[in-house]
Amino acid sequence: MSALRWIVTSGLVFAFAANGQAPPAPQPAELVLRGGAVFTADAANPTATAAAVRGGRIVYVGDDEGVGAFVGAATRTIDIAGGMLLPGFHDSHVHIAAGGLGLATCDLSRDDAADAVLASIAACARDNPSSAWVRGRGWQLGVFPNANPTRQQLDAVVPDRPAFFMSADGHSGWANTRALASGQVTAATPDPQGGRIERDAATREPTGTLRDLAVGLVTRGLPPPSDAEIKAAIVRAIALANSFGITSVHDANVPEVMMGPYLALDREKALNARVTLAAQFNLSLKGVDEVPAEVERIERLRQQYRGARLAITATKLGLDGALEAQTAALLEPYVGGDDRGPTLMPPDVFAAAILALDRAGIQTHIHSIGDRATRIALDAFEAARAANGPDGPAHQIAHLQLVHPADIPRFKPLRVSANIQGLWAYRDEETQELVEPAIGPERAARLYPLGSLERAGATLVGGSDWSVTSMNPLPAIEIALTRRGARQPAGPAWLPEQVVSSVDAMLNAYTINGARQQLHDNETGSITVGKAADLVVLDKDLKSIPVVDINTARVLHTFIDGVQVYPRDAAP
Ligand SMILES: [Zn+2]
Repeated sequence: MSALRWIVTSGLVFAFAANGQAPPAPQPAELVLRGGAVFTADAANPTATAAAVRGGRIVYVGDDEGVGAFVGAATRTIDIAGGMLLPGFHDSHVHIAAGGLGLATCDLSRDDAADAVLASIAACARDNPSSAWVRGRGWQLGVFPNANPTRQQLDAVVPDRPAFFMSADGHSGWANTRALASGQVTAATPDPQGGRIERDAATREPTGTLRDLAVGLVTRGLPPPSDAEIKAAIVRAIALANSFGITSVHDANVPEVMMGPYLALDREKALNARVTLAAQFNLSLKGVDEVPAEVERIERLRQQYRGARLAITATKLGLDGALEAQTAALLEPYVGGDDRGPTLMPPDVFAAAILALDRAGIQTHIHSIGDRATRIALDAFEAARAANGPDGPAHQIAHLQLVHPADIPRFKPLRVSANIQGLWAYRDEETQELVEPAIGPERAARLYPLGSLERAGATLVGGSDWSVTSMNPLPAIEIALTRRGARQPAGPAWLPEQVVSSVDAMLNAYTINGARQQLHDNETGSITVGKAADLVVLDKDLKSIPVVDINTARVLHTFIDGVQVYPRDAAP
């Protein structure tokens, strides 16, 4: 309705102007923002100092003088002097529902030593004496030797009940002896497809750590969350997103059980973000003959779960694990052995799935860390384009930690977006202690090839991968430009040829590029007359401060459809 009103209004303005008469004064806006830097993400109108909002829509983008005509007695005016107005950020890879559920369990993400992790778990067990399981998430792989915590360590603090904890990166699980027993994981249990049970070299007994799909051996016995718990988790996670200026989220791996709660929230008008989902593709397909039924299932979900702010735009396929745990799929072996790492799906099944999904017009969202996984994905996209024609959906590959140089120029012609996690692109402790020894210096000199991808014309979209890492886009934007940790002192970039070229490039990744990938750029993603007023106001102008200060900027206001969603207690 508000879109219609805008079209009618602007049509009248045009009619008057065409008659050579002065256009009438516009109706007052509900909200005017003025006096500062505006990043529009609109290539046709890149610079402005002011904008006006009426009926949830942007009705003016321009200068302070022009916006004056939109100020009426009831107009709320925000002075953005010294700050910056931007389109609301788009997080194109985030685990909203799963991460929100994790917020309600034991959080180990701030514990940077094994003793601290175990003390947190002991406290959680003490605080929840009646829960059948002690559960949580967020342990850092680098805290334990070889990223391999043991069941005995966990038994020492939770001896009486099953206990299970996911790692921060979501690719490893840690079980105590009772949890392993509940899943009947023993020396005789074979590694499942796409997973690995860490074992004692002599006895083959499970040591307590499970990689990738082996996690399911234990988690399938966990009591599932209720719809009410999932709804509460989504609301909690979106409130966190709004606090970081995020107005659009792409939930990157959503099982069907979470779609009902999403749709219910949409119908209750309780989704404070535009939400697109990547439906979880069944990675356990045994052969190519099972692909058609799975593609039909995804298509059915796409029809079934859509609403005013909700759509399934993609399906998520995981191809490999993580370099830290040596579960990423590499073209050449890990240092000191002949293992190249597993793929989560047999490559022929994966290729058949991509071919069928592309033909059905369904975007795919691929988890790929290692260079072999990315090669497999690009080969499958190339085959799909060749068979189905070049105009199919825009697919994307997320993470891209290690990409073979020969594959970098393939993204642009195949229209495959590079879904990047800028926050990861510096030489942190895990990189030094786990990744570099595992892949050796030649490959380590090519980690996170953001600059190469940008120069090769790949479309960059930005994602946090929360709850793996922080949802805040500002440090991620900074690190992509500096290749240094946000808290490290200023200094030379790590692998300087891999910095992204400009603040604009990163802001585009988090705004208009994300909106295009999420298929709602007609509605959002730029500050353009006629689009929804999805906006964020920062306290600093990101383009006039030193790049190393970008992470210190704070969100002052977040709006979606012109309604303030952060801070919640301020005027609407
Ligand atoms: Zn993820």
